[in-house]
Amino acid sequence: MAEKAILLDLFPEELKTFLTARNQPAFRAGQVFAWLHKGVPFGDMSNLPTSLRGVLAAEAYDLPLSLHAAFPSKTDHTVKFLNACADGNLIESVLMRYHYGHSLCISTQVGCKMGCAFCASTLNGCVRNLSAGEMLAQVLLANRYLGVSGRVGHVVLMGSGEPLDNYEAVVRFLRLLNHPDGLNLSLRAVSLSTCGIVPRIRALAGEQLPITLSLSLHAPNDEIRRSIMPIAARYPLPELMEAVREYVAQTGRRVVFEYALIQGLNSRPEHARELAALVRGLQCHVNLIPLNRVPERQLEPASPRAVQTFLDTLTALRVSATVRREMGADIAGACGQLRNQHLKEPDKPDMIKT
Ligand code: SAH
Repeated sequence: MAEKAILLDLFPEELKTFLTARNQPAFRAGQVFAWLHKGVPFGDMSNLPTSLRGVLAAEAYDLPLSLHAAFPSKTDHTVKFLNACADGNLIESVLMRYHYGHSLCISTQVGCKMGCAFCASTLNGCVRNLSAGEMLAQVLLANRYLGVSGRVGHVVLMGSGEPLDNYEAVVRFLRLLNHPDGLNLSLRAVSLSTCGIVPRIRALAGEQLPITLSLSLHAPNDEIRRSIMPIAARYPLPELMEAVREYVAQTGRRVVFEYALIQGLNSRPEHARELAALVRGLQCHVNLIPLNRVPERQLEPASPRAVQTFLDTLTALRVSATVRREMGADIAGACGQLRNQHLKEPDKPDMIKT
């Protein structure tokens, strides 16, 4: 039997093609699209004939993911989700509550192939890309979990995977997320984080999507960057910074640099000064992240004092910078940690099955 179609991957026009090929009137596409983007299962699409609901259920997925387990943090409002794809792969999303509302961090791939030395997501390589509908389903499942207590208002593409290594599906996802007949989420409330795939940053600048670009910099020079991020060998900093400058010029949006402070590597005051020189004149913000310790990796976080000195050095040099609050540390908050834990110990007792 042919694989089932993921209807959440489709724009209304494409859904129309899918339905008319099954002898359905074109106007059903709008109805189905609206239900799907509310997270409603086929069986509950009450304005569709029962026969059509049956056809859809036999040939397609309403939601291509199911919630496998939820891990609410005991110390803050963070909840980590493990979702199961139709093919059995598990992916993570993290729901965070800020003063401005609920923010969801989603995965864009099963695993990652970028090989960054500090990151848990890449430990087992990249299994496959997620489809646009699988990204959207992470948002719908988080909304379902929240129920009447709220809905996801911000989305960050900072979970497992390199979004720009899955470019087409990611751009499709962003347009679907923003679709007026769907969730209609403002792209100003979306951040995309990349390790720095230069040609794709240039392509993204041309998409007319008012998202915030986050760049995982983590080093003030190529020597340090190459020692922790293989992508740095492919796209050296001068090239990368040029692409980022063009992105800012073309979109008018400020760029965010992510910088994880690692002991003995990139966290000394001279590194802060080098970083300030690197980003001088750019409309940007630096997000300092105390490294999340990953058991499989040897790297250690910089001390709180070193973090503060680094921040003060940047601030004194008039670079806008903040230290990211750690959230959900007790639930393996860093990218890829939870999935890895699960791959190793699938029946861990503290797991909250749903
Ligand atoms: N592939 C994309 C998005 C996923 S990672 C990227 O590289 O940007 C989201 C952010 O978390 C990135 O800035 C990544 O470098 C950072 N990160 C990964 N592992 C981390 C760790 N152990 N501690 C702190 N930050 C980490």
